[in-house]
Amino acid sequence: MFNDMNFKTEKLNGKSKPNGVIADLLDMDNNGNDHSCSNTETPLKADAFDLDDESKIDIIEEHFRQIMDTLGLDMSDDSLSGTPHRVAKMYVKEIFHGLNPDNKPFLKTFKNKYNYDEILLEKNIAVKSYCEHHFVPITGKAHVAYISSGRVIGLSKLNRIVDYYSRRPQVQERLTVQIANELKKALNTEDVAIIMEAKHMCVSSRGIQDEDSTTVTSSFSGKFKDRFRKQELIDMIRMGIKA
Ligand SMILES: [Zn+2]
Repeated sequence: MFNDMNFKTEKLNGKSKPNGVIADLLDMDNNGNDHSCSNTETPLKADAFDLDDESKIDIIEEHFRQIMDTLGLDMSDDSLSGTPHRVAKMYVKEIFHGLNPDNKPFLKTFKNKYNYDEILLEKNIAVKSYCEHHFVPITGKAHVAYISSGRVIGLSKLNRIVDYYSRRPQVQERLTVQIANELKKALNTEDVAIIMEAKHMCVSSRGIQDEDSTTVTSSFSGKFKDRFRKQELIDMIRMGIKA
């Protein structure tokens, strides 16, 4: 079944490209750079960070107060009166703080002095993001793997990359690709793989209200395109060794 995830890597001619994340993955893999992947960037205004955090909190607070007021809530109630400020602060300082490049983790790498040349996999990294279409939570796990091309990275940095790109309004496809791109850049290798499984509250708690469905996305590049490497990775993820 996982062989089906072996995206067709044959050259795509011109405009007959598939849409969506598969196309992005194919573009990246075929071109080996990101010039055709600008749609994997989070859409941001040119002046996105002209305002400082405190000014943003003030503006969002006022707008959120109006939303609550419009819904008919009595904003003089002492349980509600502090909510606009709490929400605004949470947006800017916590759940969307990954929008600001100033908050990007510093990804120091080290020489691979152990000459470890097999897969390194960090499993079950928490994903806590927000759907950009509904502003409700996306929660799940990411499995992040790479094969060193001479540099290695501190393990917790893998968690931090996932966390940074998760703390934005997101779609899961873009989040997966952004994490993969960042790791490729930091480690100067194409040999990176990501598998992510997440629950979208916009699916479970509204609309179709399906509690049990999850969404799985993946990105396999470089050596991970090899079906045996890919299978090895899948087996490692399935292995239940408890540390
Ligand atoms: Zn949604």
